[in-house]
Amino acid sequence: MTQTTVRILDVPFIHTTHRAFIDTLVERTETNQKTFVVTANPEIVMHAQVDNEYKAILERADYITADGIGIVKAAQLIGQPLPERVSGYDIMMDLLKEADARKLKVFLLGASETTNAQAAERVRTDFPGIDLVGTQHGFFDWEDPSLAARIQAAQPDFVFVALGFPRQELWINQHLDQFTKGIFIGVGGSLDVLSGNVQRAPEIWQKMNLEWFYRLVKQPSRWKRMLVLPQFALVMLRKRGQHKK
Ligand code: UDP
Repeated sequence: MTQTTVRILDVPFIHTTHRAFIDTLVERTETNQKTFVVTANPEIVMHAQVDNEYKAILERADYITADGIGIVKAAQLIGQPLPERVSGYDIMMDLLKEADARKLKVFLLGASETTNAQAAERVRTDFPGIDLVGTQHGFFDWEDPSLAARIQAAQPDFVFVALGFPRQELWINQHLDQFTKGIFIGVGGSLDVLSGNVQRAPEIWQKMNLEWFYRLVKQPSRWKRMLVLPQFALVMLRKRGQHKK
C-alpha cells in the first residue's frame, strides 16, 4: 500500500474520502491494475484479532476502507482521524454509476439465487451502459474451479463479491492469482439492498450514525454477532487511556 493508512488494532485503513477512493479505483481500472478491496467494520477488525489466517488475508488487500462509524470513531479516539466512513454499499453504487458512464464490465457474485437475479435486473434497468458480463449466486460449490475461470474469461472491471465476511475475503484471496485484471471488492449484504429486498437505514439514521442500530432492529438475528461491538469500543477506550498516560 502506498497511500497513508491509519492502523486500528493493527488493521491498516486507507486515509481517504469516499469520492477520492472512487477516483482511485476508476484510475486503477483504467490502468488495468488488479485490486483487492476490503470494506472493514469493527466486526472484521475484531475477527482479525483472533484469526491469524484472516489477518494475513487483510494484509494482502490493496485497500481497507472504514466501513462503519465505529472505525471512524476509533481513529478519532487514538488521535489519527479518518476523514469519513467509506462503506461497501456506497462504493458499489458509485462504481456502478462510473461503470454505466464509461461502459465498463461488471460481475455480480453472491447472495441467494433470487436476490442475485433481482440485483442483476436492477443493474440492467438502472445502469443500461453497464456490460453485465456475468452473475453467480453465493451458494455455489467452492471446490468447483469453473467460477473463477468464467470470471477470468469475462474480464470484468468490477467484481462485487457479496458472500458476507469472512467468506468474501477468503474467496477473493484464494482466487486472486487466477485473475489478470479487475477490482475485487467484498460488499457484504449490498446485493440484498440493491435487489430491493433489504432497506438501508433512512438517511436521518445514517446521519446520526445509527445505521448499525437500524440493522439490528430490522434483522434482530444479528444481535449475537454484534456483541463484539461493545468489546471493540472497550479495547479502543483502553488504547486511548494508554495513549494519554
Ligand atoms: N451469502 C452468500 N453465500 C454464503 C453466505 C452468505 O452469498 O455462503 C450472502 C447472503 O445471502 C447475503 C450476504 O452474503 O446476501 C451477506 O450475508 P451476511 O449478512 O451474513 O454478511 P455480512 O453482513 O456479515 O457481510
